[in-house]
Amino acid sequence: MRLNLYILLFGLILSNSSKAQNTAEEICGYQHEVNKILAKQPNFLKLQDAWFQEAMTLYKQLQSSKRTIVSDTLYYEVPVVFHIIYNTSQQNVSDAMVTSQINELNQAFRKLTADTSRIRSIFKPIAGDVKIQFKLATVDPQGNPTTGITRTSTTQTTFATSRGGAYNTNMKHSNLGGKDAWDPTRYMNFWICNMEYPNYFGIVYGFATPPTGAPNWGGTGVTKDVTDGESGVVIHYKVLGKNNPLAPVKYTEGKTAIHEAGHYFGMRHIWGDGTTTTGCSVDDGIFDTPNAKQANASCTGQNSCIDANNDKPDQTENYMDYALDGCAAMYTKEQAFMMQYVLTKLRTQLSKPFIVSDTIADPKTIKEGYVIYPNPSVNNKDLTVEIGTKIRANYTVCIIDLNGKTVLEKQVPTNSSKTIPVSGIAQGLYTIIIRDQNGDIVHRQLHLFIE
Ligand SMILES: [Zn+2]
Repeated sequence: MRLNLYILLFGLILSNSSKAQNTAEEICGYQHEVNKILAKQPNFLKLQDAWFQEAMTLYKQLQSSKRTIVSDTLYYEVPVVFHIIYNTSQQNVSDAMVTSQINELNQAFRKLTADTSRIRSIFKPIAGDVKIQFKLATVDPQGNPTTGITRTSTTQTTFATSRGGAYNTNMKHSNLGGKDAWDPTRYMNFWICNMEYPNYFGIVYGFATPPTGAPNWGGTGVTKDVTDGESGVVIHYKVLGKNNPLAPVKYTEGKTAIHEAGHYFGMRHIWGDGTTTTGCSVDDGIFDTPNAKQANASCTGQNSCIDANNDKPDQTENYMDYALDGCAAMYTKEQAFMMQYVLTKLRTQLSKPFIVSDTIADPKTIKEGYVIYPNPSVNNKDLTVEIGTKIRANYTVCIIDLNGKTVLEKQVPTNSSKTIPVSGIAQGLYTIIIRDQNGDIVHRQLHLFIE
C-alpha cells in the first residue's frame, strides 16, 4: 500500500454550506517512517522479516511446551510522557484529554474495552491481552517529580509539510520548534501537535517509529530508533483521547494512538503494506491475522484474500487495520506475543514487569514445595531459594534465558535456603528450573525477571 493510494482510499468529499473540498486524510504515516529507515538501512525489511520469524518461532516453541512469555498474573508497565506542542490555545490540549487517551490505551492493550463486543465470533477466541499498561511518568529524566505531560509553545503552525502526507519531525527537537525526547530507552514519548497540511485541506493523523536494532540487526552505525532522538509516537491534536470535541466524527474513540502504539511495539498493518498487485502475497508476519489485500476503511469485513487453509474474512476489528474508530476492538494473541517480545528483547529498559496476583507462601511453612524470591529481582538483588523440608537432598537450581541457554547453575542443600547472586546475569526474562539428583526437573517457574 502506497501513499497516493491511501489518499485515493481515504479521500472524502466533504460538503459544507457553500463549497465542497477534497480532503486527504492520512490515517498513519507508517510508510514514511519505513521509507526513512530504508534510506539509512536498505535491508530493513529483510531484517524485520527475520526478527518476526525469530519471534514467531519462539511463539511456536512456547506454545508446544505450553509456556507463555508472560503469565496471566503479570503485566508490563510502560512509563509515558506526552509532549504537547502548540501554536494556538486549541492545540494546547487538556490534561484530561491525555488521561482519557491513557485510559483508552490501557483498555485496548489489556483487552478490557467494552468494544470487544464488536468482535465477530470467529475472532473472539484469538483476541489477545497484550499485558502492557501505560502510565504517565511520575519522575522525569533528572529525577524530579512530573505529571508526565510537558507543554511547549511553538512558532510552527503545522508539522505536516505538503499535500501527500509528508511531514517533518521537528516536533521532536527543541531547537526546531518542538520538544526533545525524554530518554527513549526509559520512556515512551508521545508528541501531540498540529499535522494539518499547509495550504491544503488534509491531515496526517499519526505516525510512530517501529523498533529498529533487533538482535539480528548486525553492522555498525546502522540506524537504531532510540539513538536518533525520534523514537515514539506522534498524534494529531484533534484525534487525541476519547470524545475529543475537535475530532472528526470518525475519530472520536482515541484509536489512532492505539494503532500507532502498535507500530511502536513492532506491529505492521494487517494487510502487510503490499501494493494493489502484490496485496494478497504480502503478509504482516503474524499468523492469526487473516491475509488482507489492502487497508479496510469500514467494518464490512470483506474477504479480500482467499487463503488456501483456514480462510477467514479481513479482520477489520484489528487495531492495525484502518477502519479504526467504530470498528477496531482487538489485537490478536500472536500480536500480543510479538509486542511482548519487542518489549522484552528490543525495548528492554522501557518497562517494569508487575506480578498481579502471585502469592508467595511463607518459606518457613513450606514442606514439599519451593519458593524463589524476590521476583522481579530489582537492582540485581540476590535470589533466595527455599526448599521444603520434605524434599530430598541435592537439588540444582538453573536459570535459563529465553533462548534456552543456562546462565546460572547452583546446588541447593535440602531443608535450607540458598542465596543465589544474580549480579552477573543480564536484565531480562528467565525461567528457573530445579532438578533433583537424578537430573529430573521437579519444579519449573516460568517467569523470573532480573532488572
Ligand atoms: Zn499504521
